[in-house]
Formats: sequence, structure tokens, C-alpha cells
Amino acid sequence: MKCAKLINKKIEIIEVDKPVLNKNGAIIKVLGCGLCGSDLVKIAHVNNENEKNIILGHEVVGIIEEINCDIKGFKVGDKVALGHHYPCFECEYCKNQSYSMCKTFKKSNIFPCGFAQYIFVDENHLKYTVYKMNDALKDDEKAFLEPLSCCLRAIRRAGFEYGQDNSKFNSLVIGLGSIGLLMLKGLKAFKVDAYGFDISPERMDLAHEHGFSFDENKKYDCVFLTAGATGAIETALKHVIDGGKIIVFSSVKDDLAGFSNNEIYYRELSIISSYSPSVFDMELSCELLNKKIVNVENLSTCYSLDNLSKAVDDSFNNKIFKAYIEV
Ligand SMILES: [Zn+2]
Ligand SMILES: [Zn+2]
Repeated sequence: MKCAKLINKKIEIIEVDKPVLNKNGAIIKVLGCGLCGSDLVKIAHVNNENEKNIILGHEVVGIIEEINCDIKGFKVGDKVALGHHYPCFECEYCKNQSYSMCKTFKKSNIFPCGFAQYIFVDENHLKYTVYKMNDALKDDEKAFLEPLSCCLRAIRRAGFEYGQDNSKFNSLVIGLGSIGLLMLKGLKAFKVDAYGFDISPERMDLAHEHGFSFDENKKYDCVFLTAGATGAIETALKHVIDGGKIIVFSSVKDDLAGFSNNEIYYRELSIISSYSPSVFDMELSCELLNKKIVNVENLSTCYSLDNLSKAVDDSFNNKIFKAYIEV
């Protein structure tokens, strides 16, 4: 079967053996997989040492082709969307709800990778990261299950609860790529008064089309950083209220250009980070997508697996908003 692999820092589509069902779990025939910002970061930072360990693709949509355990009523032929990591629920990190710091979480992954014709998922994946989605959604929309769940965790870590009226709070999202726009849509689903900013006029236009704007003169209770640019930190500090929260949701190239200690102290700012989703966020993500409370229609550009390299190049060059790879 075909599978994407980084070889000499280039994406190659190679032939590998189809995975076999020799442990409890399922074989999924992959229909497609979203290209995540974290895949792009991995590709950008590939070197000779880490190359063999890089697993690309985790926003998978597929059909259960074989299954040997009885979990959540899954059966052969079910169309599902899935993510890649699950926690142990037993370690100190898990007890502290820092699920993404759990060793099991970091180790668990689909096999061989999301950009492959078939994958193996184990029984814990089936329990925690695999979901049946509404048939009314297109496949590229289902692939937003995992990325939306990451945003929902960030929104919850900012202190918002789903189902509550959070409309007296406002939030600004800085960086309006696909994750930034998804964060805005998530905030709206949480009934937070949501605003977005990006230095790119095209991205501001797209945010406008989705009903989001930026008010230069406002101060914001929460600022979400999804830009991956150090310059965004200054913008966040400028627009957050004294006593407000900044939610760090992206890595930056220049790691040493950070937040000023004294500004955080004297303004009593809370700097909160959010990395990857919990199972509870996956569940809510599934519900919000299925009910179209978060609508992700027409956000993705589709590519074939053979054109994965082009999808990556187009993403790096900001030619597209979000790539979905049809396998
Ligand atoms: Zn992702
Ligand atoms: Zn754990």
C-alpha cells in the first residue's frame, strides 16, 4: 500500500506492507487526512536524527475494514473520524488533567501514519479517539474532529464552559490560519464575544466572511495566540486587559523573544498554554461538528496523496487555508 514518509528531508510516497490485525483493534481504510500545522512544523524541523521517528498525518477519516473487539458498537463498514493520542487516565499527569503530558499519550499513535491507505488503531484508540460522524458532513469536514478538539481544550483552559452564557467576556484570537478561525468558531459556540486579528488582509477578509472582526480600540479578557510568530506576543500584551489571560497555542521560531516578566507581574496577567486535546474535548468536538454548531464547510482544499508535497508547499506559501489529502 502507499504511505507518506520523510526521506532525506523530502516527502516521498513509498510502498509499505498493509498493517495486519495482530492485536486488539481495527484496520481502517483511510479515505483522507487533514494536513495539520504540527505536520508542517515537523517537516520544517526535520533533520537526520529525527527523520525516522516523524509520523505525519493524524486528522484521519476512514472506514473500518477489520475489527476484532467490541467497542462502542463499532463494526466493519462504519465510517469514522479519528485522532492519534490517548492518555492512560491513571498517572499523576492524568489525575491532574494534564492529559497531553501523560507518557502514554505521547507514545500512542496510529500506525503507520495518517497519510497511508490503511492504518491500524488499537482498542484504546477505538475507545477514546475514534468517532462516528454525521453522514451529512463531507469527509474534509469530518477531518476537523481532532483540530477542533485542540481548540476546545484551549477555550476550556481559558476558563470557559460549554453550555454557559459567556457573552459578557470577550476574546481576541491572533493569527487567523485554519486553527485561528476554528478557535473563533469554537469561542462562538461557547457564546464568548469573539474577535480575530491577523497581519494578512486576505485572512482578515476570510474572517469577516465568517462573521468575525477586529476592534483596534477594545481590550480583551482573553487573547489566544495561534500565530506562531513572536511579533504576535506584543500584539497580545497590547490588547489584553490588566488582569487578563493570554492563551499560548503555538510554537514560535525565535523562542527567546518572549513575555516580559515585569509586565506580567505588574499587570497581573495569566499566561496559560494548551497543547493537544483531551478525550472530553474530542467528544465535544464530535458533537459540535455533527450538529453543525461549528460549521467547517468549504475551508479545505483537496489534494491526492501523490500530491502531498504540493499540499505542503502550498501551505508553507500561504496559497491555501487548509489542505485535506484524499487517499
Ligand atoms: Zn492536528
Ligand atoms: Zn496518564
